[in-house]
Amino acid sequence: MYCKCSGALRRAAPAPCRPRAPDGGGWPAPSGAGVARRPTLLRVVRNDRQVRLIAFPLPFPLPLPFPFPLPRQRELRREPMRSTICRRGGAWFASFGRPRNSGTKLFNISGHVNTPCTVEEEMSIPLKELIERHAGGVCGGWDNLLAIIPGGSSTPLIPKDVCETVLMDFDGLVAAQTSLGTAAIIVMDRSTDIVKAIARLIMFYKHESCGQCTPCREGVSWMNKIIYRFVDGNASPKEIDMLWEISKQIEGHTICALGDGAAWPVQGLIRHFRPELERRMQEYQMTHGPSKAERLY
Ligand code: SF4
Repeated sequence: MYCKCSGALRRAAPAPCRPRAPDGGGWPAPSGAGVARRPTLLRVVRNDRQVRLIAFPLPFPLPLPFPFPLPRQRELRREPMRSTICRRGGAWFASFGRPRNSGTKLFNISGHVNTPCTVEEEMSIPLKELIERHAGGVCGGWDNLLAIIPGGSSTPLIPKDVCETVLMDFDGLVAAQTSLGTAAIIVMDRSTDIVKAIARLIMFYKHESCGQCTPCREGVSWMNKIIYRFVDGNASPKEIDMLWEISKQIEGHTICALGDGAAWPVQGLIRHFRPELERRMQEYQMTHGPSKAERLY
């Protein structure tokens, strides 16, 4: 049989060589039907010598308003810095920061700060100084700070008392049981529902898991279910240790870093906010009686 569109010989059941609608029903509307319905990403699927194009829309428009102010590009000095390094030499560049952590770094500061920005600063700068000098400080003042994720969403959060003194470099953040990661700093003040914020991150990683490794595919899905019950307190305190154990079973047992990235935010939450989790469970129990998990475990 020959395809009506391309004239190519087809071996299996006839199917038009046009992208199929993402929901699997019918064929997509002709172009011009609207940006939201137009396919923006095509994935080739090989199926018994046939090549089918399946259309997936990108997740636009994004939900507005955004929960955090978006960072502005400010004081981006990578280009001038490059020529300066060539002119002044590697030893000069290495003089920034502590030994083993030398040089400069682009820090992106977002969340509950007065002026979100991206700035190139020397390594080993104190986190507090970085935020106050370049991002205008925490909204409502430093005392209003709850926690900071120092290296992008995949790194464990650190509470305010750790943020007071920690240095923004590899060794300083490892000593604080977190990581420099991408140096994308997310500041959360006391208005943040910290459990819900971490749950939202886990939902992202669950969505992004490609499903190739069992610990990531199954474990992140379990973590997502459990932590969303933690948001309301509809859980047993024993499940906190269970969640910790699941995250440890994911960490280091996957073929890419997404599994680790999903496990670490949960570990940071449990490490520093276990009393908050337990408080929510007690409150839930007082208003609703023992949760189902409480009766099970
Ligand atoms: S760890 Fe990476 S490769 Fe493994 S399932 Fe998750 S996303 Fe896929």
